[in-house]
Amino acid sequence: MRWSFDVAKVAGITVRLHVTFLLLLLWLAVSHYLVGGWPAMVQGLAFILGIFGSVLLHEFGHALAAKRFGIHTPDITLLPIGGVARLERLPERPHEEFIVALAGPAVNVVIIVLLYLGFLATGRLDVLQDFALVGGSFWAQLLFVNMWLVIFNLIPAFPMDGGRVLRALLAARMGFVRATELAASIGQAFAFLFVLLGFFVNPMLIFIGLFVYMGAASEASSAQLRDFADAMPVAAVMLTDVRVLHRETPLADAVEILLRGTQREFPIVDGLGRAVGMLCREDVIKALRQHGPEVPVARVMQTNVPVVGRWETLTRIFTRMMEGQHQAVAVVDVHGHVVGLLTRDNLAEVMMVHGAMAASASVDWRGRTEEP
Ligand SMILES: [Zn+2]
Repeated sequence: MRWSFDVAKVAGITVRLHVTFLLLLLWLAVSHYLVGGWPAMVQGLAFILGIFGSVLLHEFGHALAAKRFGIHTPDITLLPIGGVARLERLPERPHEEFIVALAGPAVNVVIIVLLYLGFLATGRLDVLQDFALVGGSFWAQLLFVNMWLVIFNLIPAFPMDGGRVLRALLAARMGFVRATELAASIGQAFAFLFVLLGFFVNPMLIFIGLFVYMGAASEASSAQLRDFADAMPVAAVMLTDVRVLHRETPLADAVEILLRGTQREFPIVDGLGRAVGMLCREDVIKALRQHGPEVPVARVMQTNVPVVGRWETLTRIFTRMMEGQHQAVAVVDVHGHVVGLLTRDNLAEVMMVHGAMAASASVDWRGRTEEP
């Protein structure tokens, strides 16, 4: 996420703070100071750090549960509206998503139990009885915040954890896409309810309702994309009229071919026609400036680009290409020989065609009848 910076690394997960989060802290510090001086400021900041400590532990709950299923979480970002654990990929099986989604609120339940036991051990259960959110005991406030985190997150609507729990439960019975659509509709019904209640009870609910509504819509469309990628064979969508360049080809020749044709990305091959790298237009321009026209393309190509097999579906590569990690990947046969090319432009075209056809008929553009 832009405008965030790293503050710590725990269990291989980078903890990041968004700039707006620091602005929130600053605003709270100043406004508390103006009301009650230094003691109020310290108390206000301790409370907000307690809230975000709870949110952070909640996100670690998701991340550590995901790790059990082999899913890495590169970072957790704290924003003024909460935390975001960026999982490397979504859990695929419903029971995995169920556990990963519940692991977050479960952490808050553990915090509640620990705080309660603390009150019990110190004989201070009375602070829970005459509890006040403003000016009450810090630990009682923290317990209240964690209860709120559990309740709020278990609302069965995307993007809350409860939405994922609901989808996982439905997906065990029906397909992933149908489960997501149904869960998204239920979430949007909740969103309308929130907005409606917002007019009578608390305007904050209007804001939450809009947030939930957008979360549900984006979840539904990303599920459709995932389904699309799972069903689409690479061989059906790859470009086949592709020029490859031998690794010893001088850069000058690549420039020539680039200028005379429409191809923008070139798979680089060895003497046996096996893929060894990728050369994009930007690489050519940059290399020309740095190394001159005589350098062999193998010295200036990208070598960290994966290849896909022509027998695969788009599943493995689709998201990575759409997020812009790779501009183009070579398609290979079982011997590693280049037989085609996937580019971002070509995938975008395929999706446009697919979208148009899906809207007009239940038979898609390759003639495959959609399953009922
Ligand atoms: Zn969560």
